[in-house]
Amino acid sequence: MEDTAWHCGAVSDAAADLCAFIDDAPSPFHAVATAARRLEAAGFTRLDEAAAWPADAGRGRRYLVRDGALVAWASDDPVDGWRIAGAHTDSPNLRVKPIPDTGRAGARQLAVEPYGGVLLNSWLGRDLGLSGRVALADGSLPLVRIDEPVLHLPQLAIHLDREIGTEGLRLNPQQHVVPIWGLGTPDEGGFRRFLADRLGVDAGAVVAWDVMTHDLAPSTLAGRDGELLSAPRLDNLCSSWAAVDGLIRAGTGVVALWDHEEIGSDTNRGAGSPLLGTALERITGGRREAYHRALAQSVCLSIDMAHATHPNYAEKHEPGHWIALGGGPVVKTNVNQRYATDARSAAVFAAACTKAGVTPQWYAHRTDLPCGSTIGPITAAKLGIPVVDAGAPMLAMHSARELMATADVAPYRDVVRAFLAG
Ligand code: ZN
Repeated sequence: MEDTAWHCGAVSDAAADLCAFIDDAPSPFHAVATAARRLEAAGFTRLDEAAAWPADAGRGRRYLVRDGALVAWASDDPVDGWRIAGAHTDSPNLRVKPIPDTGRAGARQLAVEPYGGVLLNSWLGRDLGLSGRVALADGSLPLVRIDEPVLHLPQLAIHLDREIGTEGLRLNPQQHVVPIWGLGTPDEGGFRRFLADRLGVDAGAVVAWDVMTHDLAPSTLAGRDGELLSAPRLDNLCSSWAAVDGLIRAGTGVVALWDHEEIGSDTNRGAGSPLLGTALERITGGRREAYHRALAQSVCLSIDMAHATHPNYAEKHEPGHWIALGGGPVVKTNVNQRYATDARSAAVFAAACTKAGVTPQWYAHRTDLPCGSTIGPITAAKLGIPVVDAGAPMLAMHSARELMATADVAPYRDVVRAFLAG
């Protein structure tokens, strides 16, 4: 019915906008800043967690930020239940240790620690920048972003291990994942001085950092006819983008962008935290009865990326549930609740698909392989509400460079919008 109304702009416009969002968000802190900028431009105003909230905080367009997490909501009427879309801002990468300056054999190196389930091999042979935030002695936490090829993890030459070509690398993260960033003997305090220099402060003012690597190659359409979208951090900035853009277009609903999903979510700003429940309780004016009545009428769409069937490893996939790149949004199911979907919540998502004019694909993991998980089951347990897990199909999940279909971008956003609109 609203066939055309729900499709906002050409397929390539949505894909270009997603690429811009990803390239603006090399770290969770930048992802939140990028989302906040877009929300502000759409008339959302920021609330401070530590301040008293206005009595009408549940009305209008508002958001709050906690480090690498963000909660935003839009509503015109008193709420009797929420449509919530949840995604995450973090992606696996390499994070700089507190005393990082090291080196060997005439190379200056930085000690890093893999964050989340990193596909270590994907970080080799790339020009890497750095981004994140720095704690300064004056109490400020400025963001830092260095889009220059300051780090490199070189491959081992094939002549030095003939098996690498066919057997693949066996990488020890402590021994083999130490990026080079200069020549000479180890430069004690060099990284601290480097950060201070970039921030225009004295080295003594740099107290600590949350700084991580990013691939410098920009997101791009790829393939013979631009049918593919090649980018870093599709998991899960594609869903973060769809959530923010969907909320702005729907003009109603709640969006939660979590940090720390890749390391289990049990942190102050992960889905295991009270952040979302607390915000929802506060926007009902702190009235417990009203809050619990609203929760009883709420439903959450947990959006995270889905495994498309890899053409070179098709046997890794459940043969009855192949997922096509370009085939549209995916409902993710697992009866052991690694995904929170059940028949009731799946039906809510299917209705949003119908409204957006798309047909969902249905994913189940191979029964003989352990299944991944999402913020879905955690949100269901935290809030006690039905949750459906869904995502857009992609390949190479957790690689420094991931791949999806250009055609899947706009429908994904449109389904999130339709879900939030209720
Ligand atoms: Zn993810």
